[in-house]
Amino acid sequence: MKILKIKLHWQILIALVLAVIFGYYVPTGIKYTAWMGDIFLTALKMVIVPLILSSIISGVTSMGGGKNLGRLGGKTMLYYLSTSTLAILTGLFLVNIIRPGVGIEMGLTQSVEGLTDNVGSINEILMRIVPPNIFSAMANGEILPIIFFAIIFGVFITQVDDKYKNSLTTFFEAVFEVMMKMTMFIIKFTPLGIFGIVSREVSRNAHQLADIAGGMAIYMLTVVLALGIHAFITLPLIVRFVAKAKPYQHLNNMATALLTAFSTASSSATLPLTMEAVEHKSGVSNKITSFTLPLGATVNMDGTALYECVAAMFIAQVYGIEFTFIQQILIVVTALLASIGAAGIPMAGLVMLTVILTAAGLPLEGIGLILAVDLPLDMMRTSINVWSDSCGAVTVARSENEETSVAV
Ligand code: ASP
Repeated sequence: MKILKIKLHWQILIALVLAVIFGYYVPTGIKYTAWMGDIFLTALKMVIVPLILSSIISGVTSMGGGKNLGRLGGKTMLYYLSTSTLAILTGLFLVNIIRPGVGIEMGLTQSVEGLTDNVGSINEILMRIVPPNIFSAMANGEILPIIFFAIIFGVFITQVDDKYKNSLTTFFEAVFEVMMKMTMFIIKFTPLGIFGIVSREVSRNAHQLADIAGGMAIYMLTVVLALGIHAFITLPLIVRFVAKAKPYQHLNNMATALLTAFSTASSSATLPLTMEAVEHKSGVSNKITSFTLPLGATVNMDGTALYECVAAMFIAQVYGIEFTFIQQILIVVTALLASIGAAGIPMAGLVMLTVILTAAGLPLEGIGLILAVDLPLDMMRTSINVWSDSCGAVTVARSENEETSVAV
């Protein structure tokens, strides 16, 4: 079939455009296509837990114990914290200059009942990392506890007798190889899956969005502009000068994963594609991808961090509240923590916004104001989250003197 000769990311782009047209003009046809999106997302979810578990365990054992892990962990966290902070500062800068909230009518507010039910305090969120029961964490797809368990399990594999060490290492490497093969098989269906997901979202939201978007256009533009600066200037500069690698070649390698992140609005669902692209296309070793990417998908969310800051400042502006410098620093810090605590699922960032609004003493109803336009912004910030994770993997790999295929 000729269509299969088109590169996958072009197939996805075509699927995206067709989905928008189909969802907008033939909303009744969705009942015949939505299942493709559901199966695609379910298949991705199906591979995530065994993929993360086997990849982290085999990654940690190949590092050969605690010392290397500590060094890599330190570098990875340094990258995550600094890029997220840079993203927040970009958002803060633009929202202070553009001031999109000034002159917005409160009448746009929607009701937000139920949205805040599941948010805990930052403390509770941190406590969720240690699983009381690893099997229930796996059954519920809770990624952070699985990562925590897998790291510890991997470290202790390196400390048992050679006989056990070798068989466990080989076993988890084998599981990982199989999971990667399964992932590559699922990736082939991405255009169909994305068509199903996006056409349904468009049919549900497009008409309402078109009505509201006008009044919120400047707010949306502020977010998009800030995300654009972070994605196309800040991160490429880091890849170019810190990692000494080619950012735009790497971006090209990431196209399929980024388009999937955009369409699914979920970094976690995109994780299998991110891992495949970073390892097989950009040539980062399994040791580093397996450790940095699952962690990044839940902890490192530059787009979300930036968004939290812009959204909180926007709400403050709408309510006519001026923040002092110190209060803005509080917003920066809580935005960082909220982005770390947000899960890699759709709308998680919006839910975490309640943490910031509470900390800053802003009314929670403010969320109702931005609810209607959250979906397109969620899609964009998720792509930036995944893009930053992938740049992090390249940066850490290059700092470990890995050649990769994107080195300058
Ligand atoms: N949807 C985002 C993600 O999965 C999180 C968010 O809502 O900001 O990365």
